[in-house]
Amino acid sequence: MPAFSALLNGYRRFRAGPYIDQRTRFDALAHGGQSPRVMVVACADSRVDPTRIFDSAPGEMFVMRNVANLVPPYEADGATHGSSAAIEFAVTQLEVDHIVVMGHARCGGISASLTGKFDEAAEGHGAFIGRWMAKIEPARDRIRAAAALSPDIDAQEALELAAIRLSLDNLMTFPFVAERVEAGRLALQGAHFDIADGVLRVLDPVTGRFEEVAFDWSAAA
Ligand SMILES: [Zn+2]
Repeated sequence: MPAFSALLNGYRRFRAGPYIDQRTRFDALAHGGQSPRVMVVACADSRVDPTRIFDSAPGEMFVMRNVANLVPPYEADGATHGSSAAIEFAVTQLEVDHIVVMGHARCGGISASLTGKFDEAAEGHGAFIGRWMAKIEPARDRIRAAAALSPDIDAQEALELAAIRLSLDNLMTFPFVAERVEAGRLALQGAHFDIADGVLRVLDPVTGRFEEVAFDWSAAA
């Protein structure tokens, strides 16, 4: 298994390098517990690791990753909801100040939604993906219809952005999120990252548009 042995080699580099370099930080996190101020909801896609994109240190960011960085709506139905459990933990136990929903370009989950690839999939052949991505079906159908009328619409990107907006709306259906947002104790942010050019865009609550984050090349190493 060459891939797993590569992982173990990575572990050895980490143990001999960053783990020693940040010994004080790891000691504090081990004995004092974690108190990240930010939760990030990101896609499971291997190209969009939020701790790399935001250059954050261990202990700074509580991360939930799933297919297409979706936040499901609040459902008090007694069923198991892994994503909702992570949100509940971050908000009610860690009391984070921010939740960032970060989508990304070329998202496979969004692409599958647009093509309908897993809409009728059988168990073991994509049914879990199909049911998960059904959460954005209304937005998908709207964007498909708009793209059919205007071929210049980039349906992939439009649905990536729409899914981020929907996830932010869904966050507000959780009573413990809504009450903190309304009290000014929690802020929700949308963002979209493109690995092709490294550009991060952030949803501006005033304009309602995703605006590119200013970046100064002269500050680059
Ligand atoms: Zn993705």
